[in-house]
Amino acid sequence: MSATQPNILLVYTGGTIGMIKHPESGALKAFDFKNLLKNIPELKLLDCNIETISFDDPIDSSNMNPKYWIQIAEIIETNYDAFDGFVILHGSDTMSYSASALSFMFENLAKPIIFTGSQLPIGDLRTDAKENLITSIQMASLQKGGKPVIKEVGLYFEYKLYRGNRTTKINAEHFEAFESLNYPHLAESGVHLKVEYDDLYKPNLRKKLIVHKAFENDILLIKLFPGISRLVLEPLFNIAHVKGIVLETYGAGNSTTEDWFIEMLKQTIKRGVPIINVTQCSGGSVLMGQYETSTQLKSIGVISGKDMTTEAALAKLMFMLGEQVSFKTFKTIFETSLRGELT
Ligand code: ASP
Repeated sequence: MSATQPNILLVYTGGTIGMIKHPESGALKAFDFKNLLKNIPELKLLDCNIETISFDDPIDSSNMNPKYWIQIAEIIETNYDAFDGFVILHGSDTMSYSASALSFMFENLAKPIIFTGSQLPIGDLRTDAKENLITSIQMASLQKGGKPVIKEVGLYFEYKLYRGNRTTKINAEHFEAFESLNYPHLAESGVHLKVEYDDLYKPNLRKKLIVHKAFENDILLIKLFPGISRLVLEPLFNIAHVKGIVLETYGAGNSTTEDWFIEMLKQTIKRGVPIINVTQCSGGSVLMGQYETSTQLKSIGVISGKDMTTEAALAKLMFMLGEQVSFKTFKTIFETSLRGELT
């Protein structure tokens, strides 16, 4: 290792980036991480020292869950002092959920954790994997005065670095698979890397890193649609195990005003189950009280997800319930930005 070059830890969790096609069925399956490096000799040309760690059994990110989030976090935590930046290779399907979750896990993060992956496997002739991987490493290596430039959980895909907890996967076909509609991108890769310094997250560098590892996954995500059935919804809201609910509402946070629906929410909140209101729209914010169809939600104590993505709201709910935040303070904390996830 060179003492002056940044040290980057590459963590392979799975995903298309390191997959190969089964010769007969044609289905994509994760393969040995060592082969991934063999496919990118360019990595040796980068101005940094790279070390790698792989999940023993790499996964398709559709199998992602909080246990794996903790596994990723513990790899970073163990290696935090020895490395200047972390690049997490992850399937794109649930990458926004994981990037959101990791952002809440790492309080006072002072180094970059960059998620990336690809739409085509690294061995494919037209792959997007090489550019995504190489530039992610370069982003993680950026330093000013010997300190990392990026001090947050980012997601790099197709020439753009985004704040991880602001992203959503929007396309299963295009190389441009992610979007961050409510927050500008943090950096762009062209002939030069252009960093938007004003938009980067600025943590309090005097505070020590705290890694949170408790998640509550007995929660529900419910997307409203015209005609949603009372018969189906009421039993769901009344499940004793449900600790929190994310409600995807219409537009600026609007819902049906039918009495049974409002009463059901009211009783659920009375039981101490927080209900979060996020919009089904890809961009924009919940603003309860703007329309008559959201004033009751506001008055019964539904929590505003503001301009958070559904992925960030879910991860934040799982995180805050895991941290056993009291019901009394839940609304105030949820509606406050913890890691730049809301405006
Ligand atoms: N199904 C894959 C995954 O999320 C897709 C990808 O890697 O982009 O693991």
